Amino acid sequence: MEYKGYEPIVGLELHVELKTELKAFCTCSAEFGGEINTKCCPVCLGKGGVPVFNTEAHERGIAAALALGCKVAETSYFDRKHYVSRDLPKGYQITQYYTPLAQNGSVTVCVNGEEKTVAVERIQLEEDAGRIVRRGDGEVIDFNRCGIPLIEIITAPCIRSGDEAEAVVEEIRRRLLFAGVSDCKMNEGSLRCDVNVSVRPVGSDAFGARCEIKNIGSVDGVGRAIAHETERQTELLLQGGTVAVETRRFDEKSGTTVRMRDKETAADYGYVRERDLPPLVTDGETVERVRLAMPASYAVREKLLLTAGVSEQNTSVILSSVESADYFGRVMEQDVPVPGAANLFVSEVYPSWDSRPDEEAFAQCVKLFASGEVTVVSVRELIKLSAETGGSPRAIAEKRGMLTIRDEEVIASLVREAAEACTGAVEDVRRGKDAAKKVLVGYVMRHSRGRADPASVNKAVDRYFEK
Ligand code: ZN
Ligand code: MN
Repeated sequence: MEYKGYEPIVGLELHVELKTELKAFCTCSAEFGGEINTKCCPVCLGKGGVPVFNTEAHERGIAAALALGCKVAETSYFDRKHYVSRDLPKGYQITQYYTPLAQNGSVTVCVNGEEKTVAVERIQLEEDAGRIVRRGDGEVIDFNRCGIPLIEIITAPCIRSGDEAEAVVEEIRRRLLFAGVSDCKMNEGSLRCDVNVSVRPVGSDAFGARCEIKNIGSVDGVGRAIAHETERQTELLLQGGTVAVETRRFDEKSGTTVRMRDKETAADYGYVRERDLPPLVTDGETVERVRLAMPASYAVREKLLLTAGVSEQNTSVILSSVESADYFGRVMEQDVPVPGAANLFVSEVYPSWDSRPDEEAFAQCVKLFASGEVTVVSVRELIKLSAETGGSPRAIAEKRGMLTIRDEEVIASLVREAAEACTGAVEDVRRGKDAAKKVLVGYVMRHSRGRADPASVNKAVDRYFEK
């Protein structure tokens, strides 16, 4: 990305809430939402009590490290990061500043046909702060989120465009989602994105003064914020000004960034070792145990689907959530023609996800359609019916007369009926307008409620005019 001879230098800092039952250092529930201030205790509110690090959060952190190709430190440490904020009752956040859980990973993305590998410099364990919630005219602070386990993922500042940044966020999101680390929902704040942006003349290898844009709420916002910031900083420099090192906020509506405050330096945070927690030991055995328990990755599942002949577009729909990927995985185990199953999944099952048939029923519908026992119109109806009633699709199809009509006599009589009803079309065909046969075929399909076998109907219509 280039703007008036300048290019952006971008690094990402992603905060990801770990999918755990309990908070990081106490036994409060880590579930999203709920009535405000009902999931708190002295430890997460900083009112006393000893923090104990939750094993589940530790394992999720390790899984994240593995998913991003990082090396896990045998011993890492917790530190306190001090700052003043209404949503931080302790006055500090437990994080890992000096020695993080994991380092030196990478992700590779493909943007406009070019591959790019972006280093993941570090993954540190942290705890979340509370949340300021609008209520009526005022605000209340919800401390339920205090102490929810987070990881912060920091990439190298080697990203050079908004598109690249979006691809990196998307790739990290997919990897973490399929590693079972987090549900990575940007709209619920379980994945939050900060971007550091500076600009420099293309070809230079200097680093300019950078701005940090905090908490961007969507993947697409990341690219837009970078584009806007590149223009803003370049214009400033071209007019002889300087870029202030500051923290800014992205406004989704206007697509612009707004100054919040000067950027804090490490010294501002007064980092000290958290003496209430022991060093965090991660032995090789634990790493291996977590590795073995990890579900199949996005990349592995993607390859499997593409190899089975599923289109790229269908593959991305199937893999848009772990639930739909798992569902389709179980359908594949039932010996179905995979590309056909994918088409029906994407057009019939995925759009009404909350009222879907179970995997066996759906697989049976796919087979009935593949063998020609039900038509495309009937299979759609059958998928809905099996979701509603839960019965065997074959039994439903038999009971409701949904099996494809191939009987020549039956079809011939439907064609005669069509010819009586559509006399105009019959005349047209007799005058040599062969295309008018479609009218008769359409009539038969409608009047058989889509159950007549289209090939047999076409043949029967031809035969009708041979007479
Ligand atoms: Zn608590
Ligand atoms: Mn952080």
